[in-house]
Amino acid sequence: MTWQDKLSNSVKSVAPSGIRKFFDIAAKMQDVISLGVGEPDFVTPWPIRESCVYGLERGYTSYTANRGMLKLREEIARHYVEKFNVGYDVDTEILVTVGVSEALDIALRAILNPGDEVLIPEPCYVSYQACTFMANGVPVSVPAKIENEFRITPEELEPFVTPKTKAILIGYPNNPTGAIMERDDLLKIADFAEAHDLIVISDEIYGDLTYGGVHECFAALPHMRDRTILLNGFSKAYAMTGWRIGYALSNPDFIAAMTKIHQYTILCAPITAQMAAVEALKRGEKYMKKMVADYDRRRRLIYDGFKTMGLDSFEPRGAFYIFPNITASGLTSEDFAERLIQVEHVALVPGTAFGKCGAGHVRCSYATSVEKISEALNRIEHFLKSHK
Ligand code: PLP
Repeated sequence: MTWQDKLSNSVKSVAPSGIRKFFDIAAKMQDVISLGVGEPDFVTPWPIRESCVYGLERGYTSYTANRGMLKLREEIARHYVEKFNVGYDVDTEILVTVGVSEALDIALRAILNPGDEVLIPEPCYVSYQACTFMANGVPVSVPAKIENEFRITPEELEPFVTPKTKAILIGYPNNPTGAIMERDDLLKIADFAEAHDLIVISDEIYGDLTYGGVHECFAALPHMRDRTILLNGFSKAYAMTGWRIGYALSNPDFIAAMTKIHQYTILCAPITAQMAAVEALKRGEKYMKKMVADYDRRRRLIYDGFKTMGLDSFEPRGAFYIFPNITASGLTSEDFAERLIQVEHVALVPGTAFGKCGAGHVRCSYATSVEKISEALNRIEHFLKSHK
């Protein structure tokens, strides 16, 4: 008998995140340029930080309501009415969480019975499969195709539907591909969800990060508000990863069930971070837009760079990732990522970390400076030449 034998089977069978491995290698090296992390290189804008300092000065150090501060729920509700014309009741339909990470976990735990299946288009964010599994559900991967710019269609989903299918979990703009779904694409998914009576968990954490297009909120589509558990947060758009604030919006039954789990496991999100989130929604938009404009410049630089060196990539239209095809190098995505960091000290993530259909790709985050992106592109080009 070992300590391993005493672990929960579901936790034991989940593999650690394929992203972390490369962080760990990078952390031990000097002169590494990291395109690996999905994290803004900006510091949270000062007025947002200041609201936290102000809160501390005034002694705001207590718990808040389990669902989150009323002021924050009011700001979230206002934001969704103004931006997407979809309304949520502040008392029963909004839950403030510790990042989208917590919201995702408790959404799955609130709706899944053992053996319930969740359709998950891949490539996708690393937590979708693992959280479904740890919530006793069965993640069902549905490959999205590069020919279709990694959007998902009802025709691709249909063959995977069984009597046990309970939900579909989508994340657009997408991590790791940078794909977006336009209104017409989403309307088809909405019809599909309605036809099969599925819950839709829509992770819209990158909703503010789109380039040359408008983000469509899934819950704002006809008949989708109550069927959708909408997840969003402050980490990416407002450069607030360390503050750990997210939220879930849905019908009162789903939110009450999620609140039950949140109440017993988390109690509430930190008060000072919630105060900062209020400020982000009240006055943060101009700072956010400036950061998005910067990401757009970097996006064009990295997209052109990969094209010039002959690595195929479709143009990412959202989030801050690009997902080039590296098969021209003759290497697998794992070998490419591993050798690149060892030889050229550039960290990126193999596409397979996001699902099997990410094979032949790598994910690069361009949430880093123009200088670093340019230098990383030089090193990747050098690497490719020496591997031809
Ligand atoms: N959803 C997606 C698609 C992400 O890429 C991430 C973080 O990388 C998260 C959720 C987690 O976000 P948070 O910091 O709000 O927990």
